[in-house]
Amino acid sequence: PGFYRQMVETVANGGCFRATFINRHKSGGVYYAEQSVTALRDEAGEITHYVGVSKDTTGAVEREMMLREQASRDQLSGLLNRHAGEAELKRCQALAVTQAQPYGLILVDIDFFKRVNDQFGHAAGDRVIRTIGKVLSDSVRHYDQVVRWGGEEFLVILSKVGLNAALESAERIRCAVAAQEDPEVGRLTISLGVGVWQSQETEETLLRRTDTALYLAKKRGRNQVAFATAAVEQATRARINDPGDETIR
Ligand code: GH3
Ligand code: MG
Ligand code: MG
Repeated sequence: PGFYRQMVETVANGGCFRATFINRHKSGGVYYAEQSVTALRDEAGEITHYVGVSKDTTGAVEREMMLREQASRDQLSGLLNRHAGEAELKRCQALAVTQAQPYGLILVDIDFFKRVNDQFGHAAGDRVIRTIGKVLSDSVRHYDQVVRWGGEEFLVILSKVGLNAALESAERIRCAVAAQEDPEVGRLTISLGVGVWQSQETEETLLRRTDTALYLAKKRGRNQVAFATAAVEQATRARINDPGDETIR
């Protein structure tokens, strides 16, 4: 409604309105049109007619949307790439702050993945990354996002969740991956760190906490889900940074 209100106001005041319209063909399909609407006046200055000029720009608009989509995807897995994932993280953080709507993160890292490359070659490793990415996508709700965060690391962004739901999702993902079998490589496991946004928290601190949780999942033996409270996170970081402390290594 706002779009058309602006158009009517502009032309009624004698201005020229120019915009891309999203229109529908008689057959039902959507098309994009770059249109301008201008008022024509008679000698007394009264508006007598409006002239509209319209150009179908569907091809260009669709090409642009496709390029935008391609730029946000990781080539190997088809998942969101890190850049797009960071943007998505910022979007969730903004929603969390303005609407007090918590979100959750699951950081996933494949266990002993170097062995896959070493034993079966890089192509097999790539195939496993693709398969596990697909299992992750299939294991979450359609409005959650799965990001290829790094080489064999993935970030799952869960919108509108509390801790219990996030932990359940992580456990479901862990089981789904463990049940998967590659014809050549066999079964693989993943370790998962879970973090849920707390009020006053930035996305950076949440991500760091989630990363600490992943570290703990690895440390405790892999193929498991871990969660770190802020206190555990601080204590763990302190020990990681203390070269004399062997308990955490
Ligand atoms: P851990 O259980 O501690 O995670 O052991 P890991 O062997 O999985 O160790 P790490 O997570 O550090 O392994 C990362 C390895 O993933 C190193 C690199 O060779 C491999 N890798 C990263 N990106 C790719 C990729 O795109 N394709 C393939 N095939 N391998 C990759
Ligand atoms: Mg890794
Ligand atoms: Mg790994």
